[in-house]
Amino acid sequence: MITLINNIKELIQVEDFPQKKVSGKKMKILPTIKNAFLLIENNIIKDFGNINNFKDKNIVVDNLIDASGKMVLPTWCDSHTHIVYAGNREQEFIDRIKGLSYEEIANNGGGILNSAKKLQTISEENLYKQSAKRIEEIMQLGTGAVEIKSGYGLTKDAELKMLRVIKKLNNNYPITIKATFLGAHALPIEFKNNKSGYLDFVINEILPIVVKEDLAEFIDIFCETGYFSVKDTERLLKAGEKFGLIPKIHVNQFTAIGGVQIGVKYNALSVDHLEEMRAKDIEVLKNSNTMPVALPSCSYFLGIPYTPARKIIDAGLPLALATDYNPGSTPSGNMNFVVSTACIKMKLTPEEAINAATINGAYAMGLEKTHGSICRGKKANFILTKKIPSYGFIPYSFGNHQIDQVFIEGLKI
Ligand SMILES: [Zn+2]
Repeated sequence: MITLINNIKELIQVEDFPQKKVSGKKMKILPTIKNAFLLIENNIIKDFGNINNFKDKNIVVDNLIDASGKMVLPTWCDSHTHIVYAGNREQEFIDRIKGLSYEEIANNGGGILNSAKKLQTISEENLYKQSAKRIEEIMQLGTGAVEIKSGYGLTKDAELKMLRVIKKLNNNYPITIKATFLGAHALPIEFKNNKSGYLDFVINEILPIVVKEDLAEFIDIFCETGYFSVKDTERLLKAGEKFGLIPKIHVNQFTAIGGVQIGVKYNALSVDHLEEMRAKDIEVLKNSNTMPVALPSCSYFLGIPYTPARKIIDAGLPLALATDYNPGSTPSGNMNFVVSTACIKMKLTPEEAINAATINGAYAMGLEKTHGSICRGKKANFILTKKIPSYGFIPYSFGNHQIDQVFIEGLKI
């Protein structure tokens, strides 16, 4: 099937040769073509350019779209989510408004353990149904690739249930889904005073099955004061390395304790959160292949500091943006809001924010060869906007979105 999008006001994030990621000053550059066409063959981008350079004049087009006044950009790449979960936690949200802190809620048996309890009892079918709804919702909001973590199970059966649901979602939906094993998300009550026992259990009992059943490509841990230490993190990443799992880890959300250094040491694909960054954390990321990932919706929802994105980018580093969609700290998978918030609160320019939410997000999932830009041979994943004056209007119109249609794998969602 051939689809031609014609008369595009501006085609955004175009590449003749796919880059791996965009770093530092280059993040301010967003390559675009005005008065453009985009030619799709089945699920792949075949060609694009200025309409005056359109060569295949005699091509038989199955689907012709006139995009006058509208723009086209690649779909968002959301590299950090916990979309597969059971039930919601709006009561904790209300408790927090009334003055309880995130830590206090967790200490009262809420937080991650609350989600774990619900997850352990829900059927796989019901969990799939609840999660599928969220997948459909984020596709409508322009997300074409997403990473999803386990970590609300905290028992062997429940962790595997989550990962099987993630796999099923990937098989049943056109959106590309990458799975991460986050067994070390919190300490379950049964192991309350036995952290090393729980890590033994995760490493010896769950991890081998995850690998055997090919349920995850990445491994994650919540490296944070009161959760898992740098030592615990090193132990888990070492075990993951043996099994060929690539680290993508939660670090520096509330305290900076050396998680970034351990991530870099074990060649993590990404280190995520980074609300608390020391100069040496930024330093160690230079000359590494590790992508720093900021989650501004989480800062917004919890009222914690935003990741110092300017410091990171101005140090010459790349940055990716993701939602952290989860029931506790970010019940939203809206990448349009993330892009706006990055501009408003973290002082990214629209060019930097779009680079962070497309090409760099793709890199943070190992998808840079197929996703994250308008490039010949890449997947035909793109957003057709409403009629807008400029692409700066996308982050400017915060709380709204400017999406007219979303195409994933060449098909309208
Ligand atoms: Zn997270």
